[in-house]
Amino acid sequence: MRPVLIAGGGLAGHACALRLIEAGFEVELFELRPFFGGRACSYRLPGYGGSEIDNGQHVLLACCTALLDFYRRLGVEHWIRFHDSYYFLEPGGRLSELRPRKWAGPAALMAGFLALPIFDFRDKWAIVRGLAAVRRQAGDHRLDALSMEQWLERHAQPPRAVERFWRLILLSAANEELDRLSAYHGVRLIWLAFYGAPGAYRLGIPQVPLGSFFAEALWNRYGRLRRHVGQPVDKVLINGGRFHGFEVDRRVVEGSAGVLAVPYHRLAGLVPQLEADFSEWSCSPITNVHLWFDRPVTELPFAALLGRTIQWFFAERGGSYLKVVISASRQWRTWNREQIIQHTLEELKEYLPAVGSTTVAQAHVVKELCATFSPMPNLEARRPGPVTAIPGLFLGGDWTATGWVATMEGAVRSGYQAAEAVIRWLRADRGG
Ligand SMILES: Cc1cc2nc3c(=O)[nH]c(=O)nc-3n(C[C@H](O)[C@H](O)[C@H](O)COP(=O)(O)OP(=O)(O)OC[C@H]3O[C@@H](n4cnc5c(N)ncnc54)[C@H](O)[C@@H]3O)c2cc1C
Repeated sequence: MRPVLIAGGGLAGHACALRLIEAGFEVELFELRPFFGGRACSYRLPGYGGSEIDNGQHVLLACCTALLDFYRRLGVEHWIRFHDSYYFLEPGGRLSELRPRKWAGPAALMAGFLALPIFDFRDKWAIVRGLAAVRRQAGDHRLDALSMEQWLERHAQPPRAVERFWRLILLSAANEELDRLSAYHGVRLIWLAFYGAPGAYRLGIPQVPLGSFFAEALWNRYGRLRRHVGQPVDKVLINGGRFHGFEVDRRVVEGSAGVLAVPYHRLAGLVPQLEADFSEWSCSPITNVHLWFDRPVTELPFAALLGRTIQWFFAERGGSYLKVVISASRQWRTWNREQIIQHTLEELKEYLPAVGSTTVAQAHVVKELCATFSPMPNLEARRPGPVTAIPGLFLGGDWTATGWVATMEGAVRSGYQAAEAVIRWLRADRGG
């Protein structure tokens, strides 16, 4: 049988490939860029002492079961370090630690939040009411017609509870502002962290550069898989109304089935016959500022930063290398590198006074303008599943219908879904 062809060497393409080779199929995967990983990648920075940096800090929660399954199958789950506590810093440097209260069972995270000094009694009471509504409403698709901002207004959440609780969690989880985030997703994300499986809220941080998850040494073990970098698929070839193959570098590559695991805005160029309409879709950016100091500026592994534009930092090298994250960073789109670094340092000093008296040895800014699709109200029903109108052609990618916002978890789920659809189709097509 001819191989199954995959376009796109991000997490979705790799998850799809893994499932297919485990089921006994030959797979050939084509990636446009000179390296794998897509939006979760890393690369060496020339002139920075050879440092390999991620295109952006990536984290996961313990409720990301498909992603963790993918890591387990690859044998790399130990590359993720999980943290039980969360740290919050206010301007001025006051530190609060959120320690989920395990004695509270399913309410462990809520009990931890309510013990934080960053909320007053009115905020806490409003959050408890809000969380009760989350529990009742999670999974209700009618919420997709509302923005999360509207939902919070309906549930009478005071400004500080919105800013320090709902926005803090959701901006990082969905990479979108509350007025552009569907309440279906907002409510579901909070439900997953607060009412999902025990310990679902635990924060996982990769301990290796993201490129390691796509390394030759890991993937060359699979004899049934051939991977190519720097080889974009130019066109999907259709013959007699069915998938025939890919055109790659003016060459025809025939396949038994094809999976497009590329970003949504690439689809129309590859296969106009699908007439996919993405006119209502848009992207949300993420900016990461990498700062190397000449000595440690913090002992914390990471912290959420309250009340300014920068939102989180993640520390490495004993606190002398910080990655500062700004999600949904639309207001920074037009700023140049110097403006971004200057602004970041000004704000960072308010939380970590040591930053003011320490030299920045190096700094680097990564602006990902289309980091994720915006999970806006009324979009959910338009996300396509893995099966297309063209027999033998399938879709993957974090933007397909996985029920998740654009995340590594969503990407892996989409890859698994696409692989299962391919397997079903090939078995049916060949009479079982
Ligand atoms: C800065 C940043 C921070 C993020 N932080 C987090 C986080 O903390 N936690 C989290 O869960 N998620 C995070 N995400 C989101 C996560 O990275 C994505 O949801 C996920 O990686 C998407 O994977 P994918 O395979 O669906 O798409 P992609 O990674 O975009 O992969 C698609 C691939 O297709 C390739 N391609 C495009 N056209 C062609 C073609 N014609 N032929 C062949 N190949 C082609 C692209 O080059 C790309 O490699 C973040 C994203 C960014 C950018």
